[in-house]
Amino acid sequence: MRIVVLTGGIGGARFLVGVRAHARQLGAEVTAVVNVGDDVRMHGLQICPDLDSVMYTLGGAADPERGWGRTGETWVVKEELAKYGAEPGWFGLGDKDTATHLVRTTLLSAGYPLSQVTAALCDRWQPGLTLLPATDDRLETHVVVDVDGERRAIHFQEWWVRHRGDLPTHRFVFVGADTAKPAPGVLEAIGAADVVLLAPSNPVVSVAPILAVPGIREAVADGPAPVVGVSPVIAGAPVRGMADRCLATVGVPVTATGVGTLYGARADGGLLDGWLVDTSDADTDVPGVRTRAVPLWMRDEQATAAMVAAALELAGVS
Ligand code: GDP
Ligand code: CA
Repeated sequence: MRIVVLTGGIGGARFLVGVRAHARQLGAEVTAVVNVGDDVRMHGLQICPDLDSVMYTLGGAADPERGWGRTGETWVVKEELAKYGAEPGWFGLGDKDTATHLVRTTLLSAGYPLSQVTAALCDRWQPGLTLLPATDDRLETHVVVDVDGERRAIHFQEWWVRHRGDLPTHRFVFVGADTAKPAPGVLEAIGAADVVLLAPSNPVVSVAPILAVPGIREAVADGPAPVVGVSPVIAGAPVRGMADRCLATVGVPVTATGVGTLYGARADGGLLDGWLVDTSDADTDVPGVRTRAVPLWMRDEQATAAMVAAALELAGVS
């Protein structure tokens, strides 16, 4: 069996741990198509937060308490940059993490595309599945906000990390999406998949930028594989993170029904055949979509693998 997962960073990474565990039992192959909208260049380094969250988590090297970056991280480089007054000072750049960004940036500067660079980094981390950036081209999520009495578009990282999303926010723009091409292997994986899963990732700033790459949404919506989404919202709240702010900006209720309706039914031009929600959201109703309620707290690998088993069952491929 071939499983494709569209995913963001931390929530998606935790989900992929369960996908990998369940896939091992089935002897299935997994391809994760990862959001690059958060990617940013800082201090001359190309930083790919979602790819790194997934890579470190699957490689067993992610810090579970901080939620991002490496275990046993140190911060000498960040402190030294601050002593030079080097901006931006609000971005957490750990020493171990910096080594990843140095290797990535060197390879990118030598002309290798991000997909090949990611494969090279994964030689070390052995994630146990194929990680593909949604695109090798520049695609950055920017956020239109009011700041200091002025309407401006700022990079998603500045909005999220520096301002905690706490600014009057008007919309998200996926800069570069119009002309971006799916990375090599993305459309092939979706076309050959037996099932496509939407991770319980932020629908607005993790999954939407992937779907904004011309060809990807169409490949999923019109492809042969059934599509099942997993709700990132449980009982009217995102489990962690600020998906509620993102959903409010695009006018979507912070409910499992709201997010499911945002993705929409395949039969009505949307994406979903099935929508997996938490047991506390058993009353979820998305027209045209089969829903099923199971516990959706990703407490550990076993609980998450059980969610994945339920998603495949809902897809009719288990
Ligand atoms: P990011 O790119 O690091 O923000 O991570 P993602 O977009 O992949 O995932 C963030 C989302 O994961 C948040 O909006 C949460 O709602 C969701 N999430 C985190 N933990 C859990 C969990 O245990 N269960 C479910 N269902 N969703 C979760
Ligand atoms: Ca992200």
